[in-house]
Amino acid sequence: MTSDIVIIGGGVIGLAIAIELKLRGTSVTVLCRDFQAAATHAAAGMLAPDAENITNGVMRALCWRSRALYPDWTRKLEELTSLNTGYRPCGVLAPFFEEAGGQGGRGAGGAEEENTLSSPAYWLDKETIHQYQPGLGAEVAGGWWYPEDAQVDNRALARVLWTAAESVGVELKDGVTVDAFLQQQGQVVGVQTNAGVIRAAHYVLTSGSWSNELLPLPVRPKKGQMLSVRIPEFVPELPLKRVLFGQDIYIVPRRDRLIIGATSEDVGFIPDNTPEGIQTLLQAAIRLYPQLKHYPIQEFWWGFRPATPDELPILGTSHCQNLTLATGHYRNGILLAPVTAALIADLILSQKSDPLLADFHYSRFHTKPSTSTPMLTHSANFSNGRNTTPLPTDAINHVSTDSPLVIAGKTFQSRLMTGTGKYRNIEEMQQSIAASDCQIVTVAVRRVQTKAPGHEGLAEALDWTKIWMLPNTAGCQTAEEAIRVARLGREMAKLLGQEDNNFVKLEVIPDLKYLLPDPIGTLQAAEQLVKEGFAVLPYINADPMLAKRLEEVGCATVMPLASPIGSGQGLKTTANIQIIIENASVPVVVDAGIGSPSQAAQAMELGADALLINSAIALSQNPAAMARAMNLATVAGRLAYLAGRMPIKDYASPSSPLTGTITS
Ligand SMILES: Cc1cc2nc3c(=O)[nH]c(=O)nc-3n(C[C@H](O)[C@H](O)[C@H](O)COP(=O)(O)OP(=O)(O)OC[C@H]3O[C@@H](n4cnc5c(N)ncnc54)[C@H](O)[C@@H]3O)c2cc1C
Repeated sequence: MTSDIVIIGGGVIGLAIAIELKLRGTSVTVLCRDFQAAATHAAAGMLAPDAENITNGVMRALCWRSRALYPDWTRKLEELTSLNTGYRPCGVLAPFFEEAGGQGGRGAGGAEEENTLSSPAYWLDKETIHQYQPGLGAEVAGGWWYPEDAQVDNRALARVLWTAAESVGVELKDGVTVDAFLQQQGQVVGVQTNAGVIRAAHYVLTSGSWSNELLPLPVRPKKGQMLSVRIPEFVPELPLKRVLFGQDIYIVPRRDRLIIGATSEDVGFIPDNTPEGIQTLLQAAIRLYPQLKHYPIQEFWWGFRPATPDELPILGTSHCQNLTLATGHYRNGILLAPVTAALIADLILSQKSDPLLADFHYSRFHTKPSTSTPMLTHSANFSNGRNTTPLPTDAINHVSTDSPLVIAGKTFQSRLMTGTGKYRNIEEMQQSIAASDCQIVTVAVRRVQTKAPGHEGLAEALDWTKIWMLPNTAGCQTAEEAIRVARLGREMAKLLGQEDNNFVKLEVIPDLKYLLPDPIGTLQAAEQLVKEGFAVLPYINADPMLAKRLEEVGCATVMPLASPIGSGQGLKTTANIQIIIENASVPVVVDAGIGSPSQAAQAMELGADALLINSAIALSQNPAAMARAMNLATVAGRLAYLAGRMPIKDYASPSSPLTGTITS
């Protein structure tokens, strides 16, 4: 055994936790694939929860707590190393341009001060802000001043953390990649690495954007490009005293340079700076602070923020008793390092779980109800969004709340998904989708791109502010084609205003007669798309092994077929679907082959989390009525599943008791 605790990942989070644990008396080893590749080096180092306008209350509280820890935390590190972290409680100024409207669309009308519970903010009018910070662009019409926000030189901090960890006796192994967790009976018994198997009593996952390579956690990279300009000799003293946090741009003053950032791109792990990225940054920065256009460019770089679907970190216990998670810190990992270190050390060493941690537990992304502890239910959860007659109170009292359907961190009330294909006309499609009360509609990217019959005007036909688009790769015969079409789908969703829609229904179907999906091509495409940050919903044959593999590579759901697409044959793969449901920790969506509401209800009774039904609705005599029937069947099947079916018996059992009857 190397140490008591092994930490996987040596960025700001891994190192902060390592030092905290070591100082509390445990032996710690940090395994890091590449210290220099950590987002920690790429960041801007802002400690700016107020300027970031974090709306989630618990997250705001976590950030404030961490910001308050910063002065003591950095002082302690500086004492350990005699190095400077560049921590500066400089405040942040958030200027707004005229077009943003009064008080930049943020503050309460006319108020000078925004009274947040523990962090003040002050509105500065045009004259005051230009006086307070000379050199701002002429279009700046006012702005907020956040005096408690601060900054740290994140590269200096990374150096200090590494040196501090060495000096307190943490064993640091850079260049060691963890390939897998070795797990037995709910315990991690070792990590497989390029340097052999390494064992410890406890493990902590802190591998940032790459966490998803090791565990099915919905962490994906959000690329950020940055650059810096040097403060030239002709400028006598540092022109900016505080961070400028503009609209889509920030400028962070360091001792001898200005840091300008950052783009936010969903491009997976594609490296490098691009002309478009840098041009966008420079344009916005010059508008905000025009004199920097004369400053020499010093450096370009990029990094990958570890993003989760709800943009909150994943902190706390895991599915294994001796594995703790601290990842997904997205755009606030530098800020959150001290509080993460303290809370995780408390959790591991004293089993003390701070109440704040509850909201950041990984299970918020895995809400599959378990059959052993049935979820009780309220009628409101069974309406599929529509007001149906409520259940009688005594029934409600016997069943508690069903959880909503959660896919890749996004919550849906309806468990029925539909499509847009095969309708006789667009009105029928609109009416049916409305009658189904579904919230997810799948759309064939290729057919929309090529304006195939029935797909013209589709973008305008549906209200995409209410319906979540699920782009699908129908018509793709190979993994490569499907990957290409998935990327187009993401662009399509953006054009429809769904900027954060990274969903794709993956279909790789080389066989045109039976339309059966290619399992190998599907797995290959899924692996790549997950790496690129997609929430992948793969359409598969009802193969339990394949379903498991897809889950392991990070798919957001699995979508086994009931019978061939468009056949209406109903549930022909019941036994396998049942095994998939039993073993899945992601939602199981039964897709294809359902022909009638009774079959829909049956699939839900098995414990499927949701259904995708298109042909059975579109090809019926009255699609809108059938859509409604499918909605009711989905609800009924779900309710029946939660209620628990009576056992099947070999012989009759009378409904009325035979004892106590009147005999002559
Ligand atoms: C452009 C940009 C600007 C940002 N600005 C700010 C900011 O102003 N303020 C702020 O608070 N945050 C900011 N952030 C976010 C912040 O940088 C991250 O949240 C933070 O660095 C995450 O730290 P981490 O330790 O979890 O991950 P990282 O710093 O990415 O470190 C992860 C480490 O794990 C290693 N690793 C990965 N996989 C394995 C494996 N299998 N085996 C072994 N090692 C592995 C990697 O090599 C890496 O060294 C910014 C990020 C970017 C990209």
